Amino acid sequence: MSAEEKSFALQRARMVEQQLRARSIGDERVLSAMGKVPRQEFVPEDLRPAAYEDRALPIGYGQTISQPYMVAVMLEMLDVHDSHKVLEVGAGSGYQAAVLAELAREVVVVEIVEPLAHHAQLSLDRAGYGRVKVVVGDGTLGHAEAAPYDRIIVAAACPEVPGPLVEQLRDGGRLVAPVGRRDVQQCVVCVKRGDEVEMTKTIGCVFVPLIGEHGWKRRAW
Ligand code: SAH
Repeated sequence: MSAEEKSFALQRARMVEQQLRARSIGDERVLSAMGKVPRQEFVPEDLRPAAYEDRALPIGYGQTISQPYMVAVMLEMLDVHDSHKVLEVGAGSGYQAAVLAELAREVVVVEIVEPLAHHAQLSLDRAGYGRVKVVVGDGTLGHAEAAPYDRIIVAAACPEVPGPLVEQLRDGGRLVAPVGRRDVQQCVVCVKRGDEVEMTKTIGCVFVPLIGEHGWKRRAW
């Protein structure tokens, strides 16, 4: 391991203890997955020294890589098992998809900004997560080819839970999404039971807007 890698490993271990465990993230699988994924490989070159800071970071095109704590909270709510097929909407940097790949059997992630999607796939390949499939498209429509999914996570703010995502969720499956206004949302957990969807509102959060047919209409950039 190079001196730089050692330093990042130390920063990552500190992030897990101080930003996650100390703030009541108790899911050992999530903690262990986030203790493995090299977050510095998913941020722009000049922001590598800031990769483990307690905040979201800009990744270009007006988009961000989410704060580690927010990733952990949402993944804890998602309750991913290793037999699961997971759909993520909003690849961004690809970081959360890499964490999902540590937790699930199969991960598909949709990204609407083409250059971000290509870059995310490159970063995933380089970091050893080439099995994650990045699809370019409007994720508010889901990705029907690989449906149904055991778990779906939306990484951008929705005006409401997109209908096609609920349709593509397996019976008994679970979906986590930030739902609300364009500037502030609440994390919502949905569990599908036949034709019914059981919805629980949880903590407040702030995500970039989900743009698309079942999202917000206008691009923010
Ligand atoms: N999970 C990411 C952060 C997501 S930021 C990470 O780990 O880095 C939200 C992303 O959602 C942005 O990249 C944005 O371009 C994307 N997005 C917005 N609307 C979308 C849509 N309809 N379908 C797919 N991606 C969308």
